[in-house]
Amino acid sequence: MTDSSPILSAADVTKSYPAATGGNGRRLLTALDQVSLQLAPGETVGIAGESGCGKSTLAKVMAGLLKTDSGTVLYKGTPLSLLPPPDARTFRRSTQMIFQDPFSSLNPRMRIGDSIMEPLKIAGIPPELQRSELNRLMAAVGLPTDSTNRFPDEFSGGQRQRIGIARALAASPEILIADEPVSSLDISIQAQIINILLEMKREFALSMMIVSHNLLVLRHICDRIIIMYLGTIVESGPAETLFKRCRHPYTEALIAAVPGIHGTATEAPVLLHDDIPSPLAIPPGCRFHPRCRHAADICRVTSPVLTEHPDHHVTACHRSRELYG
Ligand code: ADP
Repeated sequence: MTDSSPILSAADVTKSYPAATGGNGRRLLTALDQVSLQLAPGETVGIAGESGCGKSTLAKVMAGLLKTDSGTVLYKGTPLSLLPPPDARTFRRSTQMIFQDPFSSLNPRMRIGDSIMEPLKIAGIPPELQRSELNRLMAAVGLPTDSTNRFPDEFSGGQRQRIGIARALAASPEILIADEPVSSLDISIQAQIINILLEMKREFALSMMIVSHNLLVLRHICDRIIIMYLGTIVESGPAETLFKRCRHPYTEALIAAVPGIHGTATEAPVLLHDDIPSPLAIPPGCRFHPRCRHAADICRVTSPVLTEHPDHHVTACHRSRELYG
């Protein structure tokens, strides 16, 4: 394996859930439909798209927390299901998740110092080293080191997210998967947490996957951004070019809706008129075509395949070349 071989990848991953249809019949809702992606060592990939497009499901599948229906998640080239037990343990330790609401992943009756040190104990780190490592982690995420004896409910939302990050880092991870890590926080606090993630990425040489519906957050933090629509990837491209020259009408519409990217939101053209369809009623052909202002006949009948362009963007759109050059 060369250094740029993916540290974590998904190959044709499909994942469905039993749908609550209200009737007696059992139907499956396909949250991910043959999704493939690769995370290179040291890379930060953002996953964006409207609510319900499968971002969280993808994050959990990649973290090994959800099993796939078909397709494979690979850690350093080996399918998770084929990892020998020591490597499976290494994967579980080296892939850590940060959630939107860190409160739900912290034991409310455990002092935060003990919560953060738990992964160090599990890893068999001697107690005196656990203490010094705890202090180092607390300082790294900007928490006062004299607050280790306090309980989670004594902290603000932003401080709890710092605790969640410190706990994830205590396991010395190689990969951090964050699911909407700042969306429950005030704007000013969001910036602080994003900066901590950026510093941690540099200091701990992490590979990161960040799920967010907020494109501005992803633009700030990511090397590459993947846009999902109804359980599939429709565009992937370097963060710096995605905002200047995207190549998919859905990406264009999402970017146009972000205040401050092209003037203000009200000056931007409104490109997304209808709501996203239900994953139980996926449109035929290109699944975005009913909402696409550029849809042509082919889009209504034939599903586009992901195609790579010379600028390293990959898009699933019949008209990408014609529309965006
Ligand atoms: P996102 O993170 O983009 O909002 P999710 O991955 O949470 O998307 O959800 C994708 C689809 O799967 C949605 O239609 C959602 O309602 C459905 N879904 C997610 N989790 C479950 C579950 N545990 N049971 C049934 N349906 C689910």
